[in-house]
Amino acid sequence: MDDATDDTNDGAPATITPEHDALLLDVMLGRLATYLRVCGYDALYALDEGIEHDDAVRERAVADGRRLITRDRDLAAATPGSVLLTARDVVDQLRELRAAGVELTPTERPTRCGTCNGQLESAEDDGFRPEYAPETGLVWRCVDCGQYFWKGSHWDDLTEAIERL
Ligand SMILES: [Zn+2]
Repeated sequence: MDDATDDTNDGAPATITPEHDALLLDVMLGRLATYLRVCGYDALYALDEGIEHDDAVRERAVADGRRLITRDRDLAAATPGSVLLTARDVVDQLRELRAAGVELTPTERPTRCGTCNGQLESAEDDGFRPEYAPETGLVWRCVDCGQYFWKGSHWDDLTEAIERL
């Protein structure tokens, strides 16, 4: 526990961090999920899980102990601890999250699969490097879907957008 970052006496919103909060992103928020994974969040996207209806989304958030992020006012009201967004643009949504107390700091290295939210592990011991990966630099592999990741231009674009907020 870090009391220095959790000062509840000044009226500021509670701090939401990758260490303490798993997230569930409602439908239409798939791009936002990618940005949150760059920040180290366990950020599940509802459509990736095959859940779409409000009741199913709410039940999954409660069952998993995940904080729901949604643009649906009724669903937010019915789901304890949820964060309601109003913006359509992903950068504006990130600003809304930050204003709601969601810590947004890109991690030093990729930790979550941008495709399926699985955890990444070093692929250095594989002895295999996909031919489409750069010739140098670290490579990681998703333990769930097997996709390879490295800090390429896509990673740079995502982290720069977050740092510019
Ligand atoms: Zn994956």
